[in-house]
Amino acid sequence: MKQEDNCIFCRIVRHEAKASVVMETQDLIAFDDIHPQAPVHVLIIPKKHITNLNSAGQDDLDLMGKLLLAAHEVARLKGIEESGYRTVINTNRGAGQSVFHLHLHVIGGRRMTWPP
Ligand code: AMP
Repeated sequence: MKQEDNCIFCRIVRHEAKASVVMETQDLIAFDDIHPQAPVHVLIIPKKHITNLNSAGQDDLDLMGKLLLAAHEVARLKGIEESGYRTVINTNRGAGQSVFHLHLHVIGGRRMTWPP
C-alpha cells in the first residue's frame, strides 16, 4: 500500500474526504482547518504527497514557491492580508506535526502573540 492511500490530506486532494475548499490550483489545494485556532485558519497543501519539509527536494523548488505565494492569495480571499496573518509549517512530532502530508497553516483574524 502506498503512503498516499491512507493519507487524509491525499483523500481531500482526490475529493474523497470532505473539506471546505478555499482555493485550488493544478498543484495545490487550500481548505479550512477542521479545528481552527483563530477566526481564519486555512491549510494549504501540495497535491503531491510530501511528508514534510525534510522530504522536500530540489524537484519541489517551484512547488514550494507556489505554496508560499498561495498564502498571500488565501489571506486576500479571507480578507486578512492587511490586518495580518501567520504562516506556520510544523515539521515532525516535536514541532507539533500531526498530519504527515506537508501543509502550510495560514492563521489570522485575531491578534497573535509572539513567541507562539
Ligand atoms: P499539524 O499539527 O501541523 O500537523 O496540523 C494538522 C492540522 O490538520 C491540524 O490543525 C488539524 O486540525 C488539521 N486537520 C486534521 N484533519 C483535518 C481534516 N480532515 N480537515 C481539515 N483539517 C484537518
